[in-house]
Amino acid sequence: MHKPHIPLDEIRAAVEGCRKCPLADGRTQTVFGDGNPQARVLIVGEAPGKNEDLQGIPFVGAAGKYLNELLAIAGLRREDVFIANVLKCRPPGNRDPRPEEIELCTPYLREQTRTIDPEFIVTLGNFSTKFILKTEVGITRLHGKLQKAGKFKVFPIFHPAAALYDGSKRVALENDFATLGELLHASQPADGAAGAAASGQSAAGAAMADRPAEAAASDGRSAADGAQSASSQEPRYEQESLL
Ligand code: SF4
Repeated sequence: MHKPHIPLDEIRAAVEGCRKCPLADGRTQTVFGDGNPQARVLIVGEAPGKNEDLQGIPFVGAAGKYLNELLAIAGLRREDVFIANVLKCRPPGNRDPRPEEIELCTPYLREQTRTIDPEFIVTLGNFSTKFILKTEVGITRLHGKLQKAGKFKVFPIFHPAAALYDGSKRVALENDFATLGELLHASQPADGAAGAAASGQSAAGAAMADRPAEAAASDGRSAADGAQSASSQEPRYEQESLL
């Protein structure tokens, strides 16, 4: 029933050879992702920028430095987490990802997620949040409120780059990373073993936000799928494509 997980190295090789969308023509190199392959926390950003495209690593440069500071607020080091993006190649001029690019590229993110099997997915900004939660509700509404997608706890946060242009976002970002640290602490596995998420309805559950009405309304296709018979109050991650 369950598909075997694909080793990360195999997914990386597939990404490196990928030419499924026109972004392949403009890239210096792909940016697969980086970090602990057994991380409790998978961080999902948007797409590589100029520095990431040059170095092949996500979140380098000013946004990466700030992300490291934010992780520290949550009690995390960069090597504790795995960081990936929705798109693996840089859009020209750092423009927004296009729907067709997201559709073509996100099978790689799905397989990364299945293989890493994190407890928490932290979505940074609108594109990763909308993709993971299958919602049209924006990050301004959702940030800092714990959600669920399938078996994963999903915690949306503004993209750190947003705070570099809009200082008013810094307080929200720092508060949300502090909350993430509390959620991680509250669901800490008793023996420190990776992957234990049995107490997900304890403190984390108490912090679980009700799903915004707009998200439920925009998700009619999921209800029609019937892929999950669980409460329609919960956002969905297309379970059949993830497992
Ligand atoms: S952005 Fe994704 S789908 Fe497009 S070429 Fe790069 S790896 Fe392939």
